Amino acid sequence: AAEEGFDLEDVEGAIEAAGHGPLPVLAVVGRPNVGKSTLVNRIIGRREAVVEDKPGVTRDRVTYEAEWAGRRFKVVDTGGWEQDVLGIDASVAAQAEYAIEAADAVVFVVDAKVGATDTDEAVVRLLRKAGKPVVLCANKVDGPSGEADASYLWSLGLGEPHPVSALHGRGTGDMLDSVLEALPEAPEQSFGTAIGGPRRIALIGRPNVGKSSLLNKVAGEERVVVNEMAGTTRDPVDELIELGGVTWKFVDTAGIRKRVHLQQGADYYASLRTAAAVEKAEVAVILIDGSESISVQDQRIVTMAVDAGRAIVLAYNKWDTLDEERRYYLEREIETELGQVAWAPRVNVSARTGRHMEKLVPAIETALAGWETRVPTGRLNAFLGELVAAHPHPIRGGKQPRILFGTQAGTKPPRFVLFASGFIEAGYRRFIERRLREEFSFEGTPIHISVRVRE
Ligand code: GDP
Ligand code: GDP
Repeated sequence: AAEEGFDLEDVEGAIEAAGHGPLPVLAVVGRPNVGKSTLVNRIIGRREAVVEDKPGVTRDRVTYEAEWAGRRFKVVDTGGWEQDVLGIDASVAAQAEYAIEAADAVVFVVDAKVGATDTDEAVVRLLRKAGKPVVLCANKVDGPSGEADASYLWSLGLGEPHPVSALHGRGTGDMLDSVLEALPEAPEQSFGTAIGGPRRIALIGRPNVGKSSLLNKVAGEERVVVNEMAGTTRDPVDELIELGGVTWKFVDTAGIRKRVHLQQGADYYASLRTAAAVEKAEVAVILIDGSESISVQDQRIVTMAVDAGRAIVLAYNKWDTLDEERRYYLEREIETELGQVAWAPRVNVSARTGRHMEKLVPAIETALAGWETRVPTGRLNAFLGELVAAHPHPIRGGKQPRILFGTQAGTKPPRFVLFASGFIEAGYRRFIERRLREEFSFEGTPIHISVRVRE
């Protein structure tokens, strides 16, 4: 590295930064209008989230990456809530529940100016049951005079209330320090307990693609080993199912089986649930209704799984209903609409007839293998050396940026850091990714490539 003009410390830092595995997850929960979205904006340091959203507009993004004091984590925003037929307590509880399930720690936001309400108490009960670490945020303390309001919230029994003004940033630093203490380094919920245990599958897809039918099919024909883990207000959340002689954990199956019928906000619940399931899983089996045109909603779900860095299998369902013409158009749609996951293993199934159910497990295993692939540094650099010699980066401004060396900083999914002598264009990065995929068969997994440029 030093020979190539890189400072060794920079190199190590870059590798460490890129090498993180799955990030721990922080959920931000609370009643409507207490300032959750404002706080999430603060935490992620962008104005990207959702306070500006018009009421009734479905939010498709619920998970964001954040960093505080050099540590990275994910934030699940539950601010997209809308009051619906369930009534306020049940609705707040339902949305909080999905988020809490997927979280390693929770920020519970209360409006200090209003004080604790019955709805807040309902969420407190939920938090107690879930047993996850909680940081209590007494929001809307915009100045010193509000501190007394915050101290009343000791009565919730959740420990010290952190007086915060999400709007102005007051107190958010101290609160985030407490968040970091509460958050495990790695996501325990998702992975820590999974070591040596069953692999976790999130079966996701838009409504009516056949998720519950598929689950019933696989759980019905094979033996259902045991219903693990009681949900908080719902029944079993994660289910162990034996497939192909191996026990798998299907996460959030209750969400699949019992659909919450809501007039408003149903799409939002669906998004939140999908995001939560994806966070808890190692591999996402994305179910797509082959009989219908691939929709924006399908694409969003795919993007969610890719962004979360999960292994991915695409299952085209309702194959029993496809005639020759539809099959032809489906292939065209897959090419144009789902090009971003052309690397994902694919199965054409029918939950109704059981067609190709046996192909599901090999596809999942392939995707997980890709997800865990580690390329030895020597092999990677031999490959990069040949690639760069045969296909140099285009010359820009009289200079030719070169990839000098690289290393795989992490797995699950594979993450690479490449060190370059100048700015590497997006097209060339994509070219490198394509060639890496061809060479090392990262089937079924997103791969991350970051490029460090020599100063
Ligand atoms: P959510 O429904 O919990 O996501 O709440 P929002 O983030 O949408 O905030 C609801 C309202 O409270 C908005 O008008 C915010 O501007 C306001 N708000 C949020 N945080 C603060 C704060 O710290 N101080 C004050 N005064 N208002 C706030
Ligand atoms: P979910 O909302 O994704 O859980 O979808 P469901 O499992 O409830 O299925 C929605 C509808 O599609 C139901 O009427 C199912 O009977 C039907 N369905 C599911 N899978 C198949 C399939 O493979 N073939 C056919 N023909 N219908 C299916």
